[in-house]
Amino acid sequence: MTKGRIAALVGPEKVEIKSFDVPEPEPGAVVLGVRRANVCGSDVHQWHYESPALREAGLGHEFVGEVVALGEGVETDFAGEPVAIGDRVVAVYYLTCHRCGPCRRGQFNLCTRGLASWSVNPEVAPHFRSGFATHYYVQPGQFFYKVPDRVDDAAAAGANCGLAQMLFVLDALEVKAGETLVVQGAGGLGLYATAAARERGVRVIVVDGVADRLELARRFGAARTVDMTEHPTAQARAEVVREATGGADAVLEATGVSAAFAEAIELARPGGRIASVGNLDARPEADVAVSPGLLTRKSLTVKGVLRYDPNYLHRAVAFLARNPELPLGSLTDSAYPLDDVVEALHRGEQRSVARVAIVP
Ligand SMILES: [Zn+2]
Ligand SMILES: [Zn+2]
Repeated sequence: MTKGRIAALVGPEKVEIKSFDVPEPEPGAVVLGVRRANVCGSDVHQWHYESPALREAGLGHEFVGEVVALGEGVETDFAGEPVAIGDRVVAVYYLTCHRCGPCRRGQFNLCTRGLASWSVNPEVAPHFRSGFATHYYVQPGQFFYKVPDRVDDAAAAGANCGLAQMLFVLDALEVKAGETLVVQGAGGLGLYATAAARERGVRVIVVDGVADRLELARRFGAARTVDMTEHPTAQARAEVVREATGGADAVLEATGVSAAFAEAIELARPGGRIASVGNLDARPEADVAVSPGLLTRKSLTVKGVLRYDPNYLHRAVAFLARNPELPLGSLTDSAYPLDDVVEALHRGEQRSVARVAIVP
């Protein structure tokens, strides 16, 4: 039997590389060899034990793999494309039970059992339920899609978190051609949102405080950038956006910084829309004061958006195939072997780097 290795979180900021036999896939399952996995902000939170749902679990969820074994009955991906050993695929990192309240309402992104498999200790078979590993076990019923040859691993690895979620958020915000979208934060999420909105004919303004990230934002299609070091207060930044646009039609908060949400309320025009997606922080110290009166007077719509509907991963792969000119390689500017996962997490935590990758 082949042995595989996986980065297991065993305590706050304690990671062990564990070794297990790679299981044979049960009917409906697929075993992948991981080719590349990204360090996402939520992996860093999980590593710090800030994710109550994911403690003694595997780390990593943004990845692309290669089919090494197909369970009985698996002939196609979830878009009906034939799959064979050696094909590269991306998998939706959470499960959809199809039975809980949200699933019954068709809100698959909110499945209450979404993390039920991932949160299991890797000691328990089939062990490989997370991306920082040599292998990954796609469970029966777990959505996965084939990656076209023209989409390389660096581009595909980010599809199943950041990109799919941003495509979902843009639909939730109903941004249309000719509108102005302000994206707060030029990390992976913000850059994907910028590229996807621009493809729809939306004018994108990106706010961030790191020059390299703003430069990347322009390469991803931002019509304009606002440097927080040049405009240090929320009021100053809102003034820049107002002068340029009269107020944004929509604002997408992709920073994970709570103060950005209060600022989004300032940035949106009367009647505008705000999406809160970058922030998952449940700690009381992450709360901020907002003015309900201002929300009322401006008649704003606020949407919180968690994960994405699984079919958006298919759209994400198609988006990548349509947009080969995007500098997605710049999104992951450094790669580490699995043994250096802790160093990769440290690097991933530094805001100057958009994404760090693990190539097991
Ligand atoms: Zn992620
Ligand atoms: Zn469910």
